[in-house]
Amino acid sequence: MTTTRFAPSPTGLLHLGHAYSALHAASFVDRSGGDRFLVRIEDIDRTRCRPEFEAAILDDLAWLGLAWEQPVRRQSDQMNDYRTALDRLDDMGLLYKCFHSRKELDDALSAPHHRPMMGPDGPAVTGTDALMPAAERARREATGEPYALRLRMAEAVRRTGPLTWSDRSHGEQAARPELFGDVVLARKDVATSYHLAVTVDDALQGVTLVTRGEDLFQATHVHRLLQALLDLPVPDYAHHPLLVDPETGRRFAKRDRSLTLKALRDGGVTAAEIRKRVGFG
Ligand code: GLU
Repeated sequence: MTTTRFAPSPTGLLHLGHAYSALHAASFVDRSGGDRFLVRIEDIDRTRCRPEFEAAILDDLAWLGLAWEQPVRRQSDQMNDYRTALDRLDDMGLLYKCFHSRKELDDALSAPHHRPMMGPDGPAVTGTDALMPAAERARREATGEPYALRLRMAEAVRRTGPLTWSDRSHGEQAARPELFGDVVLARKDVATSYHLAVTVDDALQGVTLVTRGEDLFQATHVHRLLQALLDLPVPDYAHHPLLVDPETGRRFAKRDRSLTLKALRDGGVTAAEIRKRVGFG
């Protein structure tokens, strides 16, 4: 039995790239055979997400002819689940508080003796707690300054040993989470992060096949590590190529307003035409 999901962030309207991604996820599912297709709303970033985009996304997906299991999981309603996972990692001694602002971190890391390697998410910083004098950390903690929680990556990798995952498009992969450094698992402004929320949700929802764009391929290194640390089941993965607009040669993105599904619908394009255009006709 297969369970897949489409997990949009409601920060804008869906475009053709999303239509492809959602139809790709659903294409692995035979609902009459008991397979499950889920839609999950990834709205932890409260400053960028809007309820009207969530409503428009669900409306577009239904218009495309997709049907998904109810209820839809909305990440902002599930903070307790992320807290439980963080507590567990904290009990294992794998988290530390990072009080640095982005600017302070940039300044600290630009010192020649600290310059970190570039990772898939930017500089792979490690041990940021050691970059701030203990007294300053204590002062900030005492005054209730917000902090991010970072994973002690080297220790985490030592605990799990080598890990692999299976990608249907790219074959067996050796996980290299250390390339990311001490990833943030809870942000200063939100008590979770993309990596943590996605990993916990996929496990709690029984997702057996994670389908998503290749832009998130690298993130799977971190997700695989979190699964091992939290004793979560390991799904298969199918990272798909990102759809490119033949007219511009660039991949579809939220900036391309004219190609939102809504604009196409308003212009009289049918759902069958969209499905065909993205290869699922
Ligand atoms: N919410 C993410 C996005 O909209 C997708 C996350 C995932 O599929 O893992 O890009």
